[in-house]
Amino acid sequence: MKEDYYEVLGISKSASAAEIKKAYRKKALEHHPDKNPGDTKAEELFKKSAEAYEVLSNPDKKARYDQFGHGAFDGSGGFGGGGMNMDDIFSQFGDIFGSAFGGGGGGFGGFGGGGFGGGQRRVKGSNLRIRVKLTLEEVANGVEKKIKVKRKIQASGVTYKTCGTCGGAGQVTKITNTILGRMQTAATCSTCGGSGQILDKKPSDADAQGLKVSEETVAINIPAGVEDGMQLKVPNKGNDAPGNGVPGDLLVAIETLDHETLKREGDNLHYDLYISFSEAVLGTSKEIDAVSGKVRIKLESGIQSGKILRLRGKGISSLNGYGSGDLLVHVNVWTPKELNKEQKEFFERMQNNENFEPKPEKSDKSFFEKVKDMFS
Ligand SMILES: [Zn+2]
Repeated sequence: MKEDYYEVLGISKSASAAEIKKAYRKKALEHHPDKNPGDTKAEELFKKSAEAYEVLSNPDKKARYDQFGHGAFDGSGGFGGGGMNMDDIFSQFGDIFGSAFGGGGGGFGGFGGGGFGGGQRRVKGSNLRIRVKLTLEEVANGVEKKIKVKRKIQASGVTYKTCGTCGGAGQVTKITNTILGRMQTAATCSTCGGSGQILDKKPSDADAQGLKVSEETVAINIPAGVEDGMQLKVPNKGNDAPGNGVPGDLLVAIETLDHETLKREGDNLHYDLYISFSEAVLGTSKEIDAVSGKVRIKLESGIQSGKILRLRGKGISSLNGYGSGDLLVHVNVWTPKELNKEQKEFFERMQNNENFEPKPEKSDKSFFEKVKDMFS
């Protein structure tokens, strides 16, 4: 019995398209193979959520599924028992971030399909995966990383000739006699792997496919606002394909490093500022290390502990290109724990002084109101 697609993504049947997409992205990031190397259970969940998303993100399929359940896809379309393969998912997964990374289309177009029927198909080289660690500053402002990548390229001096098995078509036709008559089926040529060409001459340093490893520096443009676990695609920077195929892609997994003093929450940043009791009473100004450099802020005399100062636009640039988040400075007044005799006497004298009596004003929002404001 197949699991309900809504349950797989952990959403209700009334979820909007945006909610479905968000839920899938979360699941995909959670079970991503780069995050769970060798974990077959995670891979299973990764595939399951992709399959659920594939159906629920398509209004047609979703409507059929809502009406007929899994039965809607028996025999036609759907995934039968086999589920989706990883390449399908990565092309799907890429779409989720596609607009964000400006890549769109490209990459997989054209040759992904089954490879049947269309004559010779272009073989694609294998993808390479790397991991890139980013500081919060790099995430906030975007960065170009120059990374050394070991990719297989066609060795110089390699020549190819037409495949004798398929005659260069890339596929072979098989005729079988069945009780229904003669059946003709086409299959990818196993000699050339579908490229229609096989290796002719190769230098001694090349492998069986005529490829050799070369170290190359690839410039990777990382847009501002990326998140931990995201994957970027650099088209054609994976391994070369043998023959006249196209190179695979370089898949870049993003890993973000924690910042010492700034905490990220979406595009906003939070900073805990500690000031002394006398600074709170008399007012002061403080310098804060923000992601785009130092920022000086003024604290009015009489500032209350727990106040949140919002520095607009000093957060993280939005991944979709619209504006930036804010830097929220949380003011904490440090109450002295030790006092000398003179200080102690001073505060004892002030104990019943009316200036020291708490008189919260309407503008001094309660903790709950502040939390509400922060998320609105
Ligand atoms: Zn062949």
